[in-house]
This record gives sequence, C-alpha cells and structure tokens, in this order.
Amino acid sequence: MKKCKGICRYISAYIDRDLDDMMRDRVRAHLAECERCLVLLHTMEKTLLLFREFHREEEPPVILIRRISCQVHLREEQRACVVARSLPRTTRKKTK
Ligand SMILES: [Zn+2]
Repeated sequence: MKKCKGICRYISAYIDRDLDDMMRDRVRAHLAECERCLVLLHTMEKTLLLFREFHREEEPPVILIRRISCQVHLREEQRACVVARSLPRTTRKKTK
C-alpha cells in the first residue's frame, strides 16, 4: 500500500473521468485493494457533489481537494505511528 501517495493525487481526476485508460486502470486496481483510498474516493465524491450543488458554475478549488486527501492521509499516518509504537509489545506476547 505504499503507492497511496502517488495514487491519491489522481483520485479527483478519476472521479471526473479525466484520466487516460492506463492511469484509470492503475487507480482502479489500487482502489480494489486499498480501503484507505476507497474511503478517500468516497469522501471526495461526496464533497465534489455537494460543492457542485451549491456552485454549479465553479470548479471546486484544488486546495479543497488537497486538504481532504492530506487530512485522510495524515490521520492514517498518525494511526500507523501508534500501531508501529505498540508493535514490539504485542509481538512479545507470542508464546513459543
Ligand atoms: Zn491507497
């Protein structure tokens, strides 16, 4: 799942069907095996839908999309950090 950062920047384009076939397949394949990016996709979809309902003429600001993806990844990274820190203790429980 280390490709997430490379993929997340394409997610908004993926929603807009703005990718070429190769890139779309790559994003789709990643989404199939990465729940985190799937959640990001759904969050972005909802945000874009909401935004377009209220601002029919405008495009959502890139910074808004960036903020969503950054927050999702930041949260996951913090969680990963906590998990990593608690790992030695939990692996020590092995009774063998
Ligand atoms: Zn991912």
